[in-house]
Amino acid sequence: MKGIYCVLMCFLGGLFIFFCNESKKTSTLVQPEKWWKVHPRPVYAKLDKVGTFQDWFDVYKLIEGTYAIYEPNQFEEAICYLVIGQERAVLIDTGTGIGNLKKVVSGLTKLPVSVVLTHEHYDHVAAAYRFKNIAMFDNADALNVLKAGRVNASLQKYLKNDYLWKPLPKGFDPKTWIIPSMEPTTLLHDGDMIDLGGRKLEVIYTPGHSPGSICLLDRENRILFTGDHFFPGPLYAHAPDVNIADYMESNKKLAHRIDEYDYLCSGHNDPWVKSEVILRVGKAFADIFAGKGKFSQDNGLRRYYFDGFDILIRTDMINGVAPPTKSPTI
Ligand SMILES: [Zn+2]
Repeated sequence: MKGIYCVLMCFLGGLFIFFCNESKKTSTLVQPEKWWKVHPRPVYAKLDKVGTFQDWFDVYKLIEGTYAIYEPNQFEEAICYLVIGQERAVLIDTGTGIGNLKKVVSGLTKLPVSVVLTHEHYDHVAAAYRFKNIAMFDNADALNVLKAGRVNASLQKYLKNDYLWKPLPKGFDPKTWIIPSMEPTTLLHDGDMIDLGGRKLEVIYTPGHSPGSICLLDRENRILFTGDHFFPGPLYAHAPDVNIADYMESNKKLAHRIDEYDYLCSGHNDPWVKSEVILRVGKAFADIFAGKGKFSQDNGLRRYYFDGFDILIRTDMINGVAPPTKSPTI
């Protein structure tokens, strides 16, 4: 009798754990089942591949002195960029922290490299601690996120529930994965010029996706590094730290300067996107608030479909609610 009781309790316990895990699963509107079916993304066949490093990073040369460092094996498909001038180089974002990014960067340039973070989310800041100089926008919320770091337990979800397409690289131990507390060595402001020697990047403050989001404009090469303001995928307007009014205002700011760049180097999925899409992002948000646009809905979340990107937004953000007012700092 005792044996049957034990088996029954184990079964019920297992069932409980199963349902707990299931309920924690990311909505399929955010992460479709078998998301890796998107591979190979067509754009990569047209790019100049330098190689695959540590079975984790795919590196592509976009133009002279500009490399995309891509992590195709984890759901975020994070992309960071190495931008090399005559005297120094800048690493725009640092990916998930899986694999040794510093080693990859050292193989691409011997110049001193500083990190510039487009924003404070884990999939952009995680490997920044490997570098001595870190620049970030001067925004208190963003700085607090960077300072807090991430403990191991809070990162485990990014390795489970089909987040991974391929095995983790050798030498990476999920049990010791953390994001250490960091403080930037340089604080950036709107309009700052980052001088690499013969090449400059302009800081454009574009909050919305997060309070500390920036884009970086390489005017001479007509490239805009967009972080997560834009990437060809589902733009996150549903997350708690999103401010949609700021997002729309920042997009207007970028649309206003569309004559200055031809391509977007985005934070995820695809590193070489034609710039005209920026003009359509503003219209897409306006359409959503006007009650237009095709969408799928699941548990209070909507995914709106547009040409070349989607928008994720919560129903409570649009049902009878006007977009919130923009921050006074923009
Ligand atoms: Zn991101």
